[in-house]
Amino acid sequence: MNKEKQPDDLFPSIIAHAKEYGFIFPSSDIYEGLSAVYDYGPYGCELKRNIREYWWQWMTLAHDHIVGIDAAIFMHPTTWKASGHIDSFSDPMIDNLDSKKRYRVDHLIELHAEELKKNNQTALADTLLQEMDACIAQDNFTGLKELIDRYKIKCSVSNTCNWTPVRQFNLMFSTQLGSVSDEANTIYLRPETAQGIFANFLNVQKTARMKIPFGIAQVGKAFRNEIVARQFIFRMREFEQMEMQFFVKPGSQKDWYIYWKEERLKWYKNIGIPVDNLRYHDHVKTAHYADAAVDIEFNFPFGFKEVEGIHSRTDFDLSQHQKFSGKKMQYFDTETNQHFIPYVIETSVGLDRLVLLILCNAYKEEVIKKENGPDDSRVVLKIPPPLAPIKLAVLPLTKKDGLPEIARAFIDTCKTSFKCFYEEKDTIGKRYRRQDAIGTPFCVTIDHQTKDDQTATIRYRDSMLQERLPLEEIKKKISAIIRLPL
Ligand code: ATP
Repeated sequence: MNKEKQPDDLFPSIIAHAKEYGFIFPSSDIYEGLSAVYDYGPYGCELKRNIREYWWQWMTLAHDHIVGIDAAIFMHPTTWKASGHIDSFSDPMIDNLDSKKRYRVDHLIELHAEELKKNNQTALADTLLQEMDACIAQDNFTGLKELIDRYKIKCSVSNTCNWTPVRQFNLMFSTQLGSVSDEANTIYLRPETAQGIFANFLNVQKTARMKIPFGIAQVGKAFRNEIVARQFIFRMREFEQMEMQFFVKPGSQKDWYIYWKEERLKWYKNIGIPVDNLRYHDHVKTAHYADAAVDIEFNFPFGFKEVEGIHSRTDFDLSQHQKFSGKKMQYFDTETNQHFIPYVIETSVGLDRLVLLILCNAYKEEVIKKENGPDDSRVVLKIPPPLAPIKLAVLPLTKKDGLPEIARAFIDTCKTSFKCFYEEKDTIGKRYRRQDAIGTPFCVTIDHQTKDDQTATIRYRDSMLQERLPLEEIKKKISAIIRLPL
C-alpha cells in the first residue's frame, strides 16, 4: 500500500508538503527567506501548541513536585560567564591573512562546494561536505584546516589561500542594552532556557514552598548562531526548548537520572512514536559539568538524530551562580538540619525538533488499490489524533436542503471540546484528501438521513473506513480518542 520513497527524496517532499499545507514557511519568505529561521502557519502552530501543551501537562500535572516558570529571554550578562557560555559555547571560524576577511568555516566550505557543483563536480562537492560534517562532529579543527588547504579554497576578496588556523566562534547572539553601545552594555539572547531556571532556583523553592526532590519546568525561545544550518527545522537559529531541571540530594542523582531517562522515553510512546524509531545514545564524552548524559534519538529520514538530552548536571550551575553572584544557592533540609547545593537532572527537548519528528513519522504517500478503475493515491499525515491540528472536519454532502445548518449546529456542540473545521466546497472525496493532507483524523459527512435520525457517516483517516453513528456518539468517541495519558 505504501509507495516507498528513498530518504533522500522523502525529506524534500516533507519540507514541500509542510509549506504547501500551511505548517511551516521560511521566515520572511517574500524576501527569499532567512537562513535557518522559520515561521509556523495555521496548522503548524496548532500542532506545535498541542505538543507543547502535552509536555507541560505531563510535567506539571502528572508529576508531583514540578512547577513552572516563564523567565525572560534577556538575562544579566554575568549569567553567561557563570554558566560557561561566554568562554566555551563556540564553533569554528577562520581569517584570511591578506584580505583580513573572517569566515565561518562551514560557510566557506559550502560556498566552495556550490562552485564545484556548478562545474559539474557534484560527487566531489558531496564528499567535501561529508568530510566537513565529520570534522565538525568531532570538533576536529586541524581536520577542517587540512580540508581548506587540500581543496585549495580561496578567499573571495584576496583570491589567496593564506589562512589562519581554525578558531572558535561563539554561538551566542549579542545585542546592546539601552542606547549606549559599549562592551559593558552587551547582553545576549539566551542560548538555552535552563539558566533562567537556575537563577530563579531559590525564588521558586521559597515561594512555592518546594521540598527536595522537586523540579522546575519551562518552555521558551532560545537562540544559537548555528554553524551547520541545512536541515530545515532540525537546526534553527531561533527555536523553542522545553526544559525541566530536577533538584535532588547529592548522592541520589544516579537513581534520578535513570528515572528520568525511562520516564522521558515513556512520553514518546504515549504520543504514539514507534519504539523502533527511537533509541538512547549515551554520551561517551560528557560536558565538563555533567557526570552522565544521554540523548533520545529519532530515526529521521536523514538518520538517527538527537531530539532530547537528559543530563546529570551535578551542582555545577548552582555552584557557579553562587560563586559569580555572591548569593548562597543552598537548600536547607529541615529533616537533617543541613544546608547543601542540590544536584540537578535536566531533561531538555527541542519543541521544533518534536514538530519535525511528528511530521516525519506521520508523512505517508499511499497508493489506493481500486477494484473498478485505476489506482488512486493520497498523501496523508498520520499525526497521532491528540496532536492533530484539526480533530474533526464536518462536511455537508450538499450546500442545500438544510445540511449546512445541521453541520454548523454539530460543530457548535463540539467546538469548545476540540478543534473543528467546516467545508462545503468540492466533492466529498476531494474534501477527504485535503483533510488527509493536514492530518485530520476524523471527517463526518452530514447527509439527508441525518435530518431524519441524527446519525452521520464518520470516516477514519488512517484506515479510510466509514461507519454510521449517532452524532452524539461521534462526539463522545472523538473526545475519548484525543485524550493523551497523563
Ligand atoms: P545538537 O547536538 O543537535 O546541536 P545540542 O546537544 O547542542 O544539540 P542541547 O544543548 O542539549 O542540544 O539542547 C537540548 C535540545 O534543544 C536538543 O536536544 C534539541 O532538541 C534542541 N536544540 C538544540 N539546538 C537546536 C537548534 N539549533 N534548533 C532546534 N533545536 C535545537
